[in-house]
Amino acid sequence: MNHARSDYDAIVIGAGVIGAAVGFELGRRGRRTLNVDKLPAAGYGSTGTSCAIIRFRYSTYDGVAMAWEGLHYWLHWADYLGDTDGTLDESGLIDFIQCGTLLIKKADGHHTKVVPLLERLGIPFEDLDADQVRARFPVFDLGVMGPPKRPDDDGFWAEPTEELLGGIWTPDAGYVSDPQLSTHNLQRAAEAVGGEFRFSTEVTAVEQAGGRVTGVTLGTGETLTAPVVVNVAGPHSFVVNRMAGLEGTMNIGTRALRHEVHHVASPPTFDYGTQGVHVQDGDVGVYFRPEAGNNILIGSEDPECDPREWIDDPDHYDRDITRAQWEAQVLRLARRMPDLGVPNERRGVVDLYDVSDDWIPIYDRTDLDGFYVAIGTSGNQYKNAGVAAHCMAELITAVEAGHDHDARPLKVPGRYTGLEIDLGSFSRNREINPDSSFSVNG
Ligand SMILES: Cc1cc2nc3c(=O)[nH]c(=O)nc-3n(C[C@H](O)[C@H](O)[C@H](O)COP(=O)(O)OP(=O)(O)OC[C@H]3O[C@@H](n4cnc5c(N)ncnc54)[C@H](O)[C@@H]3O)c2cc1C
Repeated sequence: MNHARSDYDAIVIGAGVIGAAVGFELGRRGRRTLNVDKLPAAGYGSTGTSCAIIRFRYSTYDGVAMAWEGLHYWLHWADYLGDTDGTLDESGLIDFIQCGTLLIKKADGHHTKVVPLLERLGIPFEDLDADQVRARFPVFDLGVMGPPKRPDDDGFWAEPTEELLGGIWTPDAGYVSDPQLSTHNLQRAAEAVGGEFRFSTEVTAVEQAGGRVTGVTLGTGETLTAPVVVNVAGPHSFVVNRMAGLEGTMNIGTRALRHEVHHVASPPTFDYGTQGVHVQDGDVGVYFRPEAGNNILIGSEDPECDPREWIDDPDHYDRDITRAQWEAQVLRLARRMPDLGVPNERRGVVDLYDVSDDWIPIYDRTDLDGFYVAIGTSGNQYKNAGVAAHCMAELITAVEAGHDHDARPLKVPGRYTGLEIDLGSFSRNREINPDSSFSVNG
């Protein structure tokens, strides 16, 4: 990339966890980068409300491989950022809390897809029967409650007549203490290699000439030039693609989906905040994890009975927790955890997933030369920020040097595990992947 007259070598639209990581990865390869975000600070978009769960139980080989590689970025965070003496970020670095994940096992459950992939990739796991799960986690009722239902369904409170098969335990999984801080860490790392950030600044147009991107125009009216522009706009990804005139040019589209995460106190009998684990419970249709202060975060696994609220305008949607979804998620957890108190006061966050047609992300170039996308993260790519950004930087470097990625999809070796990430799986022009769970499980 030798474009001496451009303002930057690359402009990244968005400074969420993936956008900031793309800035860092390009910067460490010697590119002069600018991240532009319309919000006032890094990680204030959907990253800020993320549950930041780091797990590797996806439905496809490439999904699991990428997440396993992605884990190692969190394990080696300070080293990855180049924070050799603890002074990189005045706010400190995040903690990775390695609490482990329990994937609930029921007949024909998600584990039937996941276990062969864990085995193939050599990812440590334990296959626990119901008695072993009960011995480790006496706080759970292991009756089969599913398939998931709404609380107003007559069968919601039915007494279980059989028991779950058990659970798949992956001890290496966990969550990041503060997703916004992790993004700030990445910002500081990017700045340390020369990257710049502009906040409270909206990109309003993507400029192009002769089939090639030339830069962006900002809400201030200013135009900045760069030979490479990367769309990492999260739930606004389709809006930015539209600005670039790319609507309808990709086989896989993205849409914004409203998602609620609820916060409740641990049951009085068990300090879930410090002793709990992350659980993927397809039987009742929720995922949950411990949170500091003796709390539990509860999200939905998007079961079929839950209405999906697609959002046409990601700048305007209802950010209040609804009674209906609060009751659905909290009462589902109360079925699994009978001692859970169900508070009257509704606490939690509401934000948007940037969902692709098959709930698998798009990490790719586009039909507009120089314009790249890291989008469609489908509520499940926080964990992959580091590896996704590494792949994007390798892709951009190769394509800008003349590689025909559409004809010969790039395979990127993982920095930590050496696993090969086949970027063809994340192509904008792939067929919809029938192996996907078509949910947050990817
Ligand atoms: C409630 C919730 C829970 C989640 N839980 C998990 C989880 O446990 N584990 C997991 O792995 N993933 C999870 N995810 C998904 C994960 O958070 C996202 O995949 C990830 O944060 C996406 O990062 P990003 O940088 O692509 O997007 P974002 O963080 O959304 O950043 C995009 C940025 O682009 C900016 N932007 C948009 N348009 C413009 C414009 N025109 N000009 C300038 N700036 C613009 C926005 O202001 C925003 O800051 C969750 C998501 C949500 C919403």
